[in-house]
Amino acid sequence: MSELKPCPFCGAEATRFTIGDDEPNNAGGDVIVCTGCQASSHVEFGRKENLVSCWNQRAESVNTDLLEALKALKRAHDTFDPDEWIDAEAAADAAISRAEKPHG
Ligand SMILES: [Zn+2]
Repeated sequence: MSELKPCPFCGAEATRFTIGDDEPNNAGGDVIVCTGCQASSHVEFGRKENLVSCWNQRAESVNTDLLEALKALKRAHDTFDPDEWIDAEAAADAAISRAEKPHG
């Protein structure tokens, strides 16, 4: 079983399962779901081996973006420099839009 990184949104454990017949549109597809906040990956039918790496990359990139945004906010707070606030807002926007993307 390959290792799943924790949920990029809440940090809870993620679990992978195959969708059953109770969801006819997605039956047979694999999906990764957070056990905490129910955030989920896309449903993968074909290249299932990519599902885990896709989830893990997302977890990593979201965390990296969030960290950058927090650092930028801290800089802005410490310096009171208006340019730093503009940078901080851009970093926060980037982190939010990455987090809200369905996958990738
Ligand atoms: Zn979660």
